[in-house]
Amino acid sequence: MIAMSRSTAKTNGGTTSKQPQQQQQQTLHHPYYTSNSGIPSYSSSSTSSSNSSATLASTANENEPGDFLIGYGAFGVIWAVTDPRTSRRVALKKMPNVFQSVVAARRAFREIKMLCTFRHDNILQAVDILQPPSQIDLFNEVYILTELMQIDLHKIIVSQQPLSIDHCKVFLYQILRGLKFLHSAGVIHRDLKPGNLLVNSDCLLKICDFGLARTEELDKTKCMTQEVVTQYYRAPELLLGAHHYSYAIDVWSVGCIFAELLGRRILFQASSPLKQLDLIINLLGSPPLDEIATACDGAKSYIVSKTWRAAKINMLYSLSKNVTHDAAQLLLRMLTWDPRKRITIQQALENNYIHEGRIRYHSCMCRCCFSTPTGRQYTVNLEPVRGFRYDDSDENFCSMRQAKEYMHKLLTEFSQANTVPLRLNHDSPLYKTFATSQVAQAHELPPSPVAWDKL
Ligand SMILES: [Zn+2]
Repeated sequence: MIAMSRSTAKTNGGTTSKQPQQQQQQTLHHPYYTSNSGIPSYSSSSTSSSNSSATLASTANENEPGDFLIGYGAFGVIWAVTDPRTSRRVALKKMPNVFQSVVAARRAFREIKMLCTFRHDNILQAVDILQPPSQIDLFNEVYILTELMQIDLHKIIVSQQPLSIDHCKVFLYQILRGLKFLHSAGVIHRDLKPGNLLVNSDCLLKICDFGLARTEELDKTKCMTQEVVTQYYRAPELLLGAHHYSYAIDVWSVGCIFAELLGRRILFQASSPLKQLDLIINLLGSPPLDEIATACDGAKSYIVSKTWRAAKINMLYSLSKNVTHDAAQLLLRMLTWDPRKRITIQQALENNYIHEGRIRYHSCMCRCCFSTPTGRQYTVNLEPVRGFRYDDSDENFCSMRQAKEYMHKLLTEFSQANTVPLRLNHDSPLYKTFATSQVAQAHELPPSPVAWDKL
């Protein structure tokens, strides 16, 4: 379905630096998804191909997986395809309706730029971008190639596959490791949930979907949108109508994900934001007003009007036998009403509970450390930070024309960084199906926050 833009172009134009794949393959190999799942392993399909016509659908042989839909979300449709230059399996994401509104364009711009900018093993990154049409008037859709992961954490949690305490620890460690990097760049993810944590068969985990991500708002008087984070993972300050929030909303989501890993069911699964709040109160007890200082007045009145309830922390232990005292203590530090008192990602990484996950990750899964005949050589900085803030100064376009121009420039710059540019092959039999794939329906999107002033 994807082709190189020049038929004379040589293959292997975009050599990748993926040599540690083999090393990862030998280690921590779990029986999750390698057989019967129909999910390709891109590390094993990277046989070099001598054909240069590069039309995926027509060149794929019986032993190679073809193109197929692997998922869709609020911001796009994703297919598994083969990069014709390297024969490497990659994910092709179509982002339609990018220019429906300036807000939609800004979200897409952020997602694309973040995918192209961040370089961290626990954050999904772009492999390439398909060249946009040279005429800006014909530019309506964006196609981006990213690393292909085999499954997401949501699918693992609801599957019948075993999920041991060691799995939980190594997943949690990687979530925190990726998030530390993201927060160090000044970016709040704002939609962390198991479905946005991609995993491969070696249990390597990458955070994805930056459609709702944004930089920290330093001006506390500025209103931030509350329409973020899928409801089950939404922090109480968001549910309570706070106009300003920060990195702590991601930490709450991690707490919910951690509990879900341990118990294999959603911790707070309510049908509306108000019921969501009710479930949180049920576990943590009614919050004192000083712990919900950022709540709007309507939400504070609501909390005060409800009958006071005591915390039922012991409920955590009934989640699963995997909930040890250490796990419950860390969980409660993440699930804290007051975002100012909630543990930070760095503090969580310093928690004893995390240490086994760290050891396991760096002893056989990571790319930052390596083995020698005399033993494992560990990198100095096991959880690196970005070191400088993500630059969002170029996303303040205010008209659609400007949005298109900025986006066009971003895509052109990135796609030209590769030696052989890619384009879509409109003659491929699969192209039509791909082009008509739908994005998520309205009812699948996160519900709107409570209108506290209208209760
Ligand atoms: Zn390492």
